[in-house]
Parts: sequence; structure tokens; C-alpha cells
Amino acid sequence: MMDGFSRIGETLVGKMRLLAIMVLGGLVLVIIVQAEAVLTTGEAVNRSMRYDIAMNGLNGKLDAVNALERVSRFAATRTPEDAQAARLFHNILLSRIDTWSAGAFGNFVATSPERVALLERVRAQVSGLSPLYARIEDPGVPDEIRRTLAQAVSGLIRIGGQAMMSNLTEAADIRETLRERQRFQNALVMVLIVFGAVLLAMMSFQARGLRLARESAERSARKFEQVAQRDPLTQLANRLAFDAALDKAIVEGDAGAGRLAVFAIDLDGFKAVNDMLGHAAGDSLLVSVARRLEEIVGGWGGDGLVSRLGGDEFTVLTRVPNGAPQAKARAQEMIDGLHAAHGLDHGNIVVNVTIGYALVDGQTVDADSVVQNADLALSHAKAAGKGRSQAYDASMREDATRRQLIEAGFSCALSRGEIVTHYQPQVEMATGRIVGFEALARWRHAELGWIPPSEFIRIAEASGRIAEIGEHILRSACRDASLLPQDVPVSVNLSVAQLARADLPGTVADILEETGLPPERLKLEVTESMVMSDSTRALATLRRLKALGVWIALDDFGTGYSALSYLRDFAWDELKVDRSFVQTLESDAQSLLIIRSIVELAQRLNISVTVEGVETPSQCALLRRAGCRVAQGFYYGHAVPAGELAGQLLRSFARVPLLEKPDLLGKGA
Ligand code: C2E
Ligand code: CA
Ligand code: CA
Repeated sequence: MMDGFSRIGETLVGKMRLLAIMVLGGLVLVIIVQAEAVLTTGEAVNRSMRYDIAMNGLNGKLDAVNALERVSRFAATRTPEDAQAARLFHNILLSRIDTWSAGAFGNFVATSPERVALLERVRAQVSGLSPLYARIEDPGVPDEIRRTLAQAVSGLIRIGGQAMMSNLTEAADIRETLRERQRFQNALVMVLIVFGAVLLAMMSFQARGLRLARESAERSARKFEQVAQRDPLTQLANRLAFDAALDKAIVEGDAGAGRLAVFAIDLDGFKAVNDMLGHAAGDSLLVSVARRLEEIVGGWGGDGLVSRLGGDEFTVLTRVPNGAPQAKARAQEMIDGLHAAHGLDHGNIVVNVTIGYALVDGQTVDADSVVQNADLALSHAKAAGKGRSQAYDASMREDATRRQLIEAGFSCALSRGEIVTHYQPQVEMATGRIVGFEALARWRHAELGWIPPSEFIRIAEASGRIAEIGEHILRSACRDASLLPQDVPVSVNLSVAQLARADLPGTVADILEETGLPPERLKLEVTESMVMSDSTRALATLRRLKALGVWIALDDFGTGYSALSYLRDFAWDELKVDRSFVQTLESDAQSLLIIRSIVELAQRLNISVTVEGVETPSQCALLRRAGCRVAQGFYYGHAVPAGELAGQLLRSFARVPLLEKPDLLGKGA
């Protein structure tokens, strides 16, 4: 609405401005013409004001009267002086008549033929008197001169009078013209004043419009700045504001206020809060965490900055006058402070946080690397177990570089066949016969040498490359197993990302078909934690895999939550008892007891058991007494390339009499 008005206002002002410019132009033109006219009139006035014609006329009249009067005087005195004077005045009158024929007066006379005739008659009369003047002393002559002169004088007086009248009329005309011009000028001035006023009004209207526009632009710029710098949910500074503050703090340097510390704070299990209590609860928790962080940081004094970079990632920027120990203490203060229950509308929520932090030292000059350092420390803290803090140290950057190298090398490794599959035998303890192999990925990196799978599998999982690698291992394991001289099964490890894919059963079926390996010779190993992350979906996928005829094994059993409900929720074919139990077998009586219980439970549930990490004959003996039948470990053999499998297998079979058909799958009574 306001917009519509201001637009109409703008067009109106635009039109009026055009009109004003046109009128002003017109006025200027009129003024120029008027000035020219005034100038011309001025000249006319000057001319008229000289009254030269009138004066000439008047003087002519006087000369005539004087000439007449001198003749009369001589007639009375008859002195030679007066005779002389009478002649002189006759001559003056003659030359006056001459001036009346030329110049401005001549022009005036010429305007009327009657006047020209009159002047000629007077001239003839006066000049005709010259012989009479010559003998003026003669009696009767002066009277004769006086009679003629009197006639001439009346003519002269008529012309002189006319000249006077004409001069006066002209002056009056000019005065009238001047008055008109003045009136016109006044009107012009009025118009100019009115237009000036209109222009002034327009300009002030425009100025007001401009001011309003500027104010509104300033308001929206301020608002935009705020929006751009604030996290809308928590009202904390956002990444932009945090980066700017960090840049500024780095430029300012230490300045005696202490070293700069950046804390990267991550809520543990925030996703679970979102998933279980809904996003509204998640949002409330984030707001509560924000307020509490502000409270804690406010308590430190100084100008610490709390910001939210997104999701459940918070950062704190502060100065620590006492250096690293103080940073550590402050991290702990935040962990403790945030751990206290958050009273939300949805009930009380308790969260743990993990914190990584980095101090700005003399070498860190750019904000990015400080933040990266804090993030690196955070991922180390997370890897080491959540709910803790970790300071950055330089080795983390080496780790990160190595990690980047590994990540960048996957494509090459796959295409060049650098990632290969090795096989570790699984052996029936009673006979020493190989009853299966576990496929284990091996990567010899061109630069880094052998990289353990525990390292690169994690990185492949994090960077989304694991599905390709997993498929590659699965395919080679199936192919290698299909070429074995005995029908032993092969176990392949699955990763959580593979299990999450709905097309996994299809891929497995395709690979089985492609390699010709019977499904019952493939065992897929998953860990408890993999199933836990999304158990409904994971169990559904496992059921579809099992439906193919493939065996499903629960790997690293005993290390995770060991929730026995998993044993009920899914019909596992095999449990793989984790190496940690075997390692403590001789030192810890509990371990033996646990293994015995697992074996008994598994037998009742008709699940076969394989013990991992068997390294010594005594471990072997203890495990056999505990009822274990199949084992895997360095005692029986390390993982070897596919080429060595056939030999190993044949040798192990040669040790037992062929009559006794081995239970290759390790299952059954
Ligand atoms: P895992 O599935 O538990 O595999 C067994 C690991 O224990 C192997 O380590 C094996 O070399 C090691 N091991 C076997 N016997 C002994 C022993 O007597 N003593 C000791 N100390 N260790 C023994 P590896 O090959 O380094 O693999 C480590 C982990 O990497 C595997 O643990 C598995 O979780 C993962 N992994 C390996 N290959 C693959 C793969 O192809 N796909 C996936 N998703 N994960 C794999
Ligand atoms: Ca395994
Ligand atoms: Ca294992």
C-alpha cells in the first residue's frame, strides 16, 4: 500500500519536475527577450530625455523674438550700436533656421510636408530681409523689417511649439511603455517567486522522500546484518560473526589479555534426542545449552563469544591469561555445567558434551587453522570416548594429513588393485582341520605402505567409500572361495554403511550368481553396534540376506552391549567371541567362565561359536575344555593371500583320515 503511494508520488514528482524545468526554461527566455526590450526602451528614454528637439524649437522661438526686439530697440534709439545688434540677431536667426533643416530637428521637420513648406516660407522671409537690414538707418525700414519679422516669428513659434509637443508626446509614450514593461516584469517576478516556491516545496518533498528511503534502507541493512550474524534459533552469533570475531581477535594479538582459545563443543547423542523426543525438544535443548554456555562464559569475565555454527556444534572464543591449564579447566567447567539436567517442557534432559580446543600460538596466524585445530582435537576427543575434552597437538595434524592421503587414495587403490583380500583360516581345534576362512582387507599404499584395515575401513566408512570397497572384497572373497578344492565357507565383514543399503541383498545375490559360490558357503559378519544404530532396518536386511541362504555371524561378541535380546531378535548362525576374552583367559578366571556360558547358551540356541584371537597352545587347551570347537588366531595362521589357500587347505585335510567327513561349517552336535 505504502509502496503504491510512494510510487505514485514519485511519478507525480517526476512529471512536476519536468514541467518546472520547461516553465523555468520559458521564463528564462522571456527574461532575455524582456531584458533586450528594456535595453531598447532605455535607449529611447535616453534619447527622449535629451529634449533636444524641444529645446531647439524653444531657442528658435527666442531667437525670432530677440531679432524682433532688437529692431524695435534700434527704431527707438537710432544708435549705430543697436543697428549693429539688430543685424547680429538677424544673422543668429538665419543660422537657427539653418539648423532646423538639418540633424534631428531637420528629421522632425521632414515628418510633415506642411511643416517643411512653413519652414521654407519662414526661411525665405527672414533671408529676404537681408537688403533691408543693410539700409536699416533709412526711415521706414525698421518698421518694414518688423512687419516681415512678425510674420516669420509666428511661423517659427508654430514649428517650435510643434517640436515641443512632439518631444513631450514621445516621452509620454515611452513612459507608458516603461510602465507596461515594469508591470510585465513584476508579473514575471511573481511567476518566478511562485515557481520558486513550488520548486522549493517539491524539493523538500523529494528530500523527505529521500530521507525516508534512506532510513528504511538503513533499517533493513541493520536487520539484514543482524539476521546475517545471528543464529535464528539460539540468537547466538553464527559462523559469520564467529569468523569475524576470531579474525579480529587474532589481529589484536595477545595484548596482555592472555592467549586466545577456541573451543569446539559437540553434544553427544543429540541425534537421539531429536529422534526420540522430536525436533521441538531438540530445539529447546539447543536453546538451553546456548543460554547455559553464555552463563558459564559470562562468568569468566572478559569478552568471550559463544556461537552456534549449526546443528549441535557450538564454539566458544575466549582468552586464557593462564594458558593451557586454564583452557583445560574451562573445558571441564563447560562439560560439567552442561551436564546438569536441562529442564525443558518435554521433561529433564541430561546431555554429555565433548570438547576439542586449540590455543592460538605465535604460528597460527589464520582463523581457519585455529578452528581446524579445535575440530581436530574434537574428533580425537570423540574417538577417545565422548564426554571429555581434548587439547589440540601438532601430531593431530599429521594424523589428519595421513587421513587425507588415505581418503584421496581410495579411487586409485581400487582401480590399481592395491586393496586386496587376504584370508585367515578358521580351524576345528580337535582335528586342526581348516573349516573356513575370514576375508580381511589389505591395502599396500604406494606412499604410506601397509595400512591396517582398522584404520582405512573407518576412513572409508566416514568418507562414503566403504560400499565400493566392501563390494570389491565380497566379490573377490566369493570368487576365491569358489575356486577352492574343498567346499569350505568364507566369512566376509560387512560395514554399517553396507548394511544400511536396501540393495545389499540384491548385490550379494548378484555376486553369488556371478562367482557361482553356493550361498551356504558365504558368511556375513556384522557387529552388535552396527545392528544397534538402526536395528529394525538392519535386522530386516539381515533377514533378507539370510533368506538367500547366506550365513549371518555376530562379530566381536561380548565387546558391545552384549544385550541378550539380540540373540532372541534374530536367528544368528554364528557368534564370534571377541579376542579380548581369549587374551585374558589365563589371567582372569571370569573370562573362561563367560566363554563357557556363551558356548552353552549358543548350543541351546543352535548357534555355532568361533573364538577369535587364539595365539597359544594353552589358550587352545582352555578353550577346548570350555567347549569351544572352532577357533581363529595367529596360533593357527595369519591372513594370507588367496594363492596360498589351496595349499593350506589340502595340508590341513591331509592330517585327518578322509573317512571322517568333517563338519566344515563347525555347526551341529
Ligand atoms: P575383525 O573382523 O575382528 O577381524 C579380525 C581381526 O583380528 C583381523 O585384524 C585379524 O588379523 C586379527 N587377528 C586374527 N587373529 C589374531 C590373533 O591371534 N591375535 C591378534 N592380535 N589379532 C588377530 P585386521 O585384519 O587388522 O582387521 C581388523 C578389523 O578391520 C577387522 O576386525 C574388521 O572389523 C575390519 N576389517 C578387515 N577387513 C574388512 C573388510 O573387508 N570389510 C570390513 N567392513 N571390515 C574389515
Ligand atoms: Ca570379522
Ligand atoms: Ca572380530
